[in-house]
Amino acid sequence: MDLAFDTDNAQRLAELREVVRRYQDRYGELEGMVDLAKANSALASRRRRFDHLAAEHQRIQKEMRSMASEVERIERWMEFCLEDVVTRTREKHAEGWSPTPVLGYRLWAVGAQCLHGVKMAWSSRKMTATCLSRGDQGEIPHTDGRCGRLGCGVYAAKSVDPLYRGFDVAGIGDVALGLVALTGKVVEHDSGYRAAEAEVIALGACFGNHVLLTADPDLVDAVIADPTLIKNEPRIEVNRQRLLEMETFVELEARRARQWISGTSSE
Ligand SMILES: [Zn+2]
Repeated sequence: MDLAFDTDNAQRLAELREVVRRYQDRYGELEGMVDLAKANSALASRRRRFDHLAAEHQRIQKEMRSMASEVERIERWMEFCLEDVVTRTREKHAEGWSPTPVLGYRLWAVGAQCLHGVKMAWSSRKMTATCLSRGDQGEIPHTDGRCGRLGCGVYAAKSVDPLYRGFDVAGIGDVALGLVALTGKVVEHDSGYRAAEAEVIALGACFGNHVLLTADPDLVDAVIADPTLIKNEPRIEVNRQRLLEMETFVELEARRARQWISGTSSE
């Protein structure tokens, strides 16, 4: 804030002083000069004090500007230190935080209303993990065992085979097999992953004897919201054949996605 004195006022005072000086010349001693002298001295002392404060004000502003730029610089340094600690810790404790998506496979049971995972029903192609046992404190998926032996996170397998063998796919009835892209914190296990975020990027799903194969995000969303759409697709009577076609499709899509993710055209 710039404080300045009213120049009109100063002008008016100067004019009056000039009149008083003229009258002094003309008439000598004037009445009221004692009070005028008091006012003069009071004004002079306040002006000196004001000038002092103005100089101080300037000095403080300059120091504040330099402090602000130092704070900015130290904040950048702080950011670097924080990132360094996080990176070192993740490396040391094998915390996967994947900047590029990790691909995995999932199975769902297909119902008329939705696709059911082992723990949760999916309502769209994207799923964010929550910890059902211990709330959402800390980074999910948890790796400190607080939520049991298996732990939280969106689960995905590294390959289709163990899924087909591990779950009794022939016995479940209608199933969907998806290729999922895992992002955020991704914890690797022997045969699969637990991730913070998952997105279905290719889906093979059967309903009745109909089989739908798609990598179109909108169609994936539509089918997850309403699995009865699968009934618009061709029928494949043999169960083994349905499973094989779904597997072939998502694995082909995985190969394409890997090329896209790694940015190379060679396999
Ligand atoms: Zn947990």
